[in-house]
Amino acid sequence: MIIGIDDTDSKNGMCTTYLCAVLLDELQAYGTITGLPLLMRLNPTIPYKTRGNASIAININTDQPQKVIDHVISRIESLAQMNSETTNPGVVFVPDNDQKRTRSALYEYFRLAVTDVLSIDSAKKMVFDLDLPSKSFKNGRGLIGALAACGALLNSNWDHTYEYIAYRKQNVWGTLRLIDKTSIHKADMETYPHTWDTVDRANDLVVCVPHSPDPVLFGIRGRSVEDVTHAAGLIESEPIEYSVVYKTNQGTDMHLIHVINISDIKEMHSYIIEGTVSRTPVTIRGGHVIFSIYDVKGDEIDCAAYEPTKDFRILVRKLIVGDRIVVYGSVSTNTLNIEKIQIKYLAAKTETQNPVCPLCKKRMKSAGSGQGYRCKKCRTTADSTVSIKVDRGFNIGLYEVPPSARRHLAKPLVRVDMQDCDIFSSR
Ligand code: ATP
Repeated sequence: MIIGIDDTDSKNGMCTTYLCAVLLDELQAYGTITGLPLLMRLNPTIPYKTRGNASIAININTDQPQKVIDHVISRIESLAQMNSETTNPGVVFVPDNDQKRTRSALYEYFRLAVTDVLSIDSAKKMVFDLDLPSKSFKNGRGLIGALAACGALLNSNWDHTYEYIAYRKQNVWGTLRLIDKTSIHKADMETYPHTWDTVDRANDLVVCVPHSPDPVLFGIRGRSVEDVTHAAGLIESEPIEYSVVYKTNQGTDMHLIHVINISDIKEMHSYIIEGTVSRTPVTIRGGHVIFSIYDVKGDEIDCAAYEPTKDFRILVRKLIVGDRIVVYGSVSTNTLNIEKIQIKYLAAKTETQNPVCPLCKKRMKSAGSGQGYRCKKCRTTADSTVSIKVDRGFNIGLYEVPPSARRHLAKPLVRVDMQDCDIFSSR
């Protein structure tokens, strides 16, 4: 039986993945857990999310399905942050004999939950139409993520990575995390690029340890179970209550939709779109850098590199009108929040300078207003200034925000196949 769960936590504590860790331990009393649990990241623009819009799914081989259902529901009731206004848990069960019948509908629902905006009614209708055992609490929004996680578990045909999550003992939740920073850096040095986003080297930040009062101690992301387990084993920390390796769609760019026309872009969706810079980047209050691009039809959209993207903004500030780029990111309030940028063509940048004397090769001086330029020493003259091509200071290629500013779903460059990006083609 597949179990999908979502929306049990609040900003003040808990984490749906912790509930998953507890269930993986306790459900062994009723059967055998098969395969890895899933940690699925859904549409990152959803305003109801607590942090990273995650949901989880577990697969259990059991001959006591009702006991499993009862236990899961009682654990949601005891662990979910029901008092929080924004916590609306949902759980969906897909019994073994319903899996073939529901597979394609649930997979489609999962794909939509990652890229689109779904209603609570759509989830309630799906549960009703498919006649699946489920339980929702309060407004039942969690059913959306719960269904999506079931859809992902029913189909293995999606790009994936792994995350090892270590959980804290309950008695220390909300206190400072005791974890040796040097060992984290060592784990990163030894396992990168097979693991990523453990630290942000450029900004000297530890990325794998959260700051919120939830039960997570640290999370190591990587390309195989062995890689994340090896890296986690190198980290020295306070005692751990549980550790779980998840299969996940993190770091896959699954949220991005390819579009050609800006007119097809909708709020709360994420895109890959090619365009030409139409407005030079400006830095606004707060340190955010904004510029715009136009598409093949001449429609425009603003693009932003927000302050947390740190040095990525240095590159963005170098863009000029006429540069041809591909931007990757989510759209909200009519602005595309850049996760990655591909520079395809650099427009020529010129600077006006005084002409050079053909004899001594030094720059001529102005001969007076409207009287051209001259070299006093060699007695040579020229009528006007010359236009010089300036080095742009960066090359065509694919660039990303630093790990500390990366969205869970964004594919890091260490995972990108450059062939897919067509980055060396010019317009
Ligand atoms: P955590 O990371 O700790 O699990 P969270 O960031 O996942 O927390 P939730 O508390 O789960 O946030 O809240 C997200 C809510 O949004 C859930 O109820 C989920 O069902 C719902 N949701 C997820 N994807 C979509 C979507 N595409 N459209 C509409 N609602 C969605």
